[in-house]
Amino acid sequence: MPTEEPQRVNLAAMPTPLIRLDRLAEELGGAEIWLKRDDLTGLELSGNKVRKLEYVAADALNNGCDTIVTEGTCQSNHCRATAAVCAKLGLQAVLLIRPEPPNEVQGNHLLDMLFGARLRCYPRDSFEADREGIVRSVLDDLQAEGLKPRWTPMGASEPLGCWGYIRAAGELSEQLVERGLQNSDVILPVSSGGTYAGMLLGTLLKQTEGLSLWAVPVSDDVAWHTSEVGRLCRETIGQYGLPVEFEDSAMRFIDGYVGEGYGIPYAAAIDAIRLLARTEGIVLDPVYTAKAFCGMLDGVLAGRLGRERPVVFVHTGGVFSDFAWPEKIVGVRE
Ligand SMILES: *Cc1c(COP(=O)(O)O)cnc(C)c1O
Repeated sequence: MPTEEPQRVNLAAMPTPLIRLDRLAEELGGAEIWLKRDDLTGLELSGNKVRKLEYVAADALNNGCDTIVTEGTCQSNHCRATAAVCAKLGLQAVLLIRPEPPNEVQGNHLLDMLFGARLRCYPRDSFEADREGIVRSVLDDLQAEGLKPRWTPMGASEPLGCWGYIRAAGELSEQLVERGLQNSDVILPVSSGGTYAGMLLGTLLKQTEGLSLWAVPVSDDVAWHTSEVGRLCRETIGQYGLPVEFEDSAMRFIDGYVGEGYGIPYAAAIDAIRLLARTEGIVLDPVYTAKAFCGMLDGVLAGRLGRERPVVFVHTGGVFSDFAWPEKIVGVRE
């Protein structure tokens, strides 16, 4: 029985471009480097979360929900994308934000407000200590108000959300085949796991044998990602009856790029933002793509990536966070 793709709402500008980074490659002493521009899925609706939210939003609408509730930091790309999706579809977004945002409203937080999202803010410790209880009581409160909420977890990393990258993997593999790049290394950041899980499942479904997918953790450790991405893959296979065999050995991580922690930029990541901006006129973000890009750059410089076969970096978006920390991006290292 062929697997049926769940319904989705058309929100992302797809297919996103796949471009070659020749000026960067020259700067690095020669390599073949490509960029999959998933930062261009839209403007307000930019980045990887839109692909996942196409499915989550369709599910909300099909079930008569009028509200989407989710969680993240005040600079969360996922919260901003959810707020934009809700504005576009006439739904209410309710964002559970932790820790409490700073007084100055910037970047994604500013957009959340413009899109009319309702924010509920919590200290980090108390949120982590009782996450499930808080989510349940928010959903109860909204129901008591007469709303019909649908919950989606951090990053929309639930089995349904993984479909965004099952689809993206098909899109990317077609672009790679068209250009004769079917044997290549594909690098992407991983945090809540849905993007990588979807890509892994999508390439298994497409049987893209020459592609190796590498994830660079930008939060947590490899053991956590192995269990989380593995769980998402298995649950998605189970829920949708995907005709693939998934084994933990399919997951490959490039470790060592988290730095001090999630959302804490370091000098090499800022340098990576500047390097790509200066050579190609393309902007990475400090939380996800800059750190993952460092993992790719080190591989290219060491000759492990982009030499014998092309390397493809998936730019998952996040540009608005650059505007939340201007002093970190341009100020601190002159
Ligand atoms: C959320 C996000 C990621 C990580 O994707 P996950 O599916 O959470 O692993 C990567 N890049 C950007 C810009 C993001 O916003």
